[in-house]
Amino acid sequence: MTVSAQTNTTLQAIAQALSSRDDFVICGHVNPDGDCVGSQLALASALRALGKTVTCVFAQDIPYESTLACLPGFDGIIPSAEFAGAVDTFIAVDVSDAKRMGDAAKLFENASYRIIIDHHEVDTRTSELNYVEPDAAATSMIIWDLIGCFDVERDTDMAACTYVGLMTDTGRFQFQNTDARAFSAAAEMVASGADPASLSTAIYQNRTRASVALEHIMLGNIIYDDERQFVLSWVSRDDMESVGAKRSDAESLIDTLRSIRGIRVACILRGEDGCVRGSLRAKDATDVARIARLYGGGGHVAASGFTIHDTMDVARNSVLATLQKELS
Ligand code: 5GP
Ligand code: MN
Repeated sequence: MTVSAQTNTTLQAIAQALSSRDDFVICGHVNPDGDCVGSQLALASALRALGKTVTCVFAQDIPYESTLACLPGFDGIIPSAEFAGAVDTFIAVDVSDAKRMGDAAKLFENASYRIIIDHHEVDTRTSELNYVEPDAAATSMIIWDLIGCFDVERDTDMAACTYVGLMTDTGRFQFQNTDARAFSAAAEMVASGADPASLSTAIYQNRTRASVALEHIMLGNIIYDDERQFVLSWVSRDDMESVGAKRSDAESLIDTLRSIRGIRVACILRGEDGCVRGSLRAKDATDVARIARLYGGGGHVAASGFTIHDTMDVARNSVLATLQKELS
């Protein structure tokens, strides 16, 4: 085993540690996505199959009307603020940084023992057992391998949860992180019962009309920068309210922006309570995590996010100027 800034253990050692412990809280990051929730639920299911006590928590809040509700076990996830009692073993999946754990950061800090399993680039270890593989397309793929180290059968529910994590983090097996390993893992998950057609219908062919109405507004706001090959658009809090859209209704909008011909980088800004959330995607080798970090955010080279605690007008002008500068 090579000890690095991010990793001080192996999946086998994590499997052993999990086998020897009994009581777990599994948490993901704020603004949970398919990879984080899929990883939580699959790991919880495997640990329960081993007879362990497991609680899955949302870092901050429940993603309202999330399409992820199709995942088996989703209804059992509780907000971390509702977790009562002491935490024995805290497992963070798809997140390494306590700052991205919202309310759950308190549980993380007070836990007797901590395990992190993630694929986001980080420069420090923050737990007793830290396993971070930036080359893994999804955290759920690491979880799939980890469950493979246990003496349990990887069943249909575990396969469906990890498949959704892999499908969503690779943008349906299209993004730069899609590699042979991702396809091999997907093949194993499908062989174990994950149904690609029904899962992709549940996640991608399940948009609300509010989401479509929001896209209509977003398309009217597009700023094209032909010279630097980026596109920026936004939807304000008022826009969202005007069509009855929830936060989850805005999630698919960045995919429309990145689908545009000739674009290297796509950015969307979404108005939230007292802040603006930004998402960045790169279609070439541009490092958009670096751009997100300029605003205190982060993520992956090709997919990152950030929050600006200001009005949409201020955020838009700032991000526009930053993209013009950084992409020149
Ligand atoms: P999204 O645009 O889908 O919210 O995020 C894209 C990627 O960037 C995800 O891997 C997500 O975890 C990461 N990310 C989003 N926002 C932040 C942030 O504020 N800080 C950090 N460190 N990562 C973020
Ligand atoms: Mn992920």
